[in-house]
Amino acid sequence: HKPSCECNNCYTSTDCSILLQDCPVDANSGDPLFLEPFWMRQAERSAVLVSGWHRMSYLYQDGTYVSRELERVIRKLHSVVGNAVTDNRFIIFGSGSTQLLAAAVHALSLTNSSPTSLLTSVPCYAMYKDQAEFFDSANLKFEGEASAWKQSERNDNITQVIEIVTSPNNPDGKLKRAVLDGPNVKTVHDHAYYWPYFTPITHQVDEDLSLFSLSKTTGHAGLRFGWGLVKDKDVYDKMNTYIKLTSMGVSKDTQFHVLQLLKVIVGDGDDEIFHFGYGTLKKRWEILNKILSMSTRFSLQTIKPEYCNYFKKVKDFTPAYAWVKCEREEDTNCYEIFKEANITGRSGNVFGSEDKFVRLSLIRSQDDFDLLIDMLKKLVSQEPVGA
Ligand code: PMP
Repeated sequence: HKPSCECNNCYTSTDCSILLQDCPVDANSGDPLFLEPFWMRQAERSAVLVSGWHRMSYLYQDGTYVSRELERVIRKLHSVVGNAVTDNRFIIFGSGSTQLLAAAVHALSLTNSSPTSLLTSVPCYAMYKDQAEFFDSANLKFEGEASAWKQSERNDNITQVIEIVTSPNNPDGKLKRAVLDGPNVKTVHDHAYYWPYFTPITHQVDEDLSLFSLSKTTGHAGLRFGWGLVKDKDVYDKMNTYIKLTSMGVSKDTQFHVLQLLKVIVGDGDDEIFHFGYGTLKKRWEILNKILSMSTRFSLQTIKPEYCNYFKKVKDFTPAYAWVKCEREEDTNCYEIFKEANITGRSGNVFGSEDKFVRLSLIRSQDDFDLLIDMLKKLVSQEPVGA
């Protein structure tokens, strides 16, 4: 049992066993606690001990902010999973891929003499727009949908463009490719979800700038660790300057902890995290599909299975989020309909999409998922039979 301070918000008592009445279930954030049972089984192998006198210095012995051992394990992880080429790439660390996103956009817009437009494909992760607007750089403007830009007259090879490609996409889980190309276009590939839990691994990505997040790799979102694979030395140097001037590198304790975790998952034990995580999400999708197959009011995204180079089999997509559409004309605000049914999702408009959509997180704890399913069953059972 967990300490009561770690109970799901709908449970109480010292062992989290009492369910509160009418408690709204949280299906909002992508807190990746679906991997918690794996780490409970690996409690000993994954544990870290940090004495007071350990890792006090700013730098490692080679005078950098980067653990070379961790860098090596990350390269090994990509080669074991087969999801990214790491040869001839610099690896940069950040406090979550959130910090690296800002560093990448900063580095790529800095090289441009004219202002740069930041584009992506809707529905998209809100952070790109939020960061661009918050940092409010004279060099950069968030302009939204990349395909609209493609058709516009402004696609003139003069205006500088950064396209962020999220693959698999948040919120809908689809594999994406860049919409724009040309000498004036630079691309940032956000591969936070390109792991065998969420998608078949169809190829090794081999791009100029790719970002990954520990949050969706091991599930340790709270460690705040992400990394980037960067081909170009000049872009890497500029990103490095950004990291140095904003945080003087990533916490050495975090790097040590991440090293310990990644060693467990690239080790050759019988307990394999990707089988475990995929199995969990596959079961969750089966349950969800079964319930929503009885509904004409709500529909889910569908993505055709593909061959996975990691599992060496054709595999279903099991995205981190359900991207639910409210099909009835009168159901204009899908988020509110779920909210009334005691389910807190994230509204489609947060992703630049319509209010007809709501995102439900499927990667939270088993308690959250079970409660979500209870609430969904109730909601769907209210539909008139044969409607
Ligand atoms: N990119 C995408 C697409 C995400 O969904 C997230 C967080 N869920 C991030 C980046 C940021 O991840 P973090 O900062 O935790 O590494």
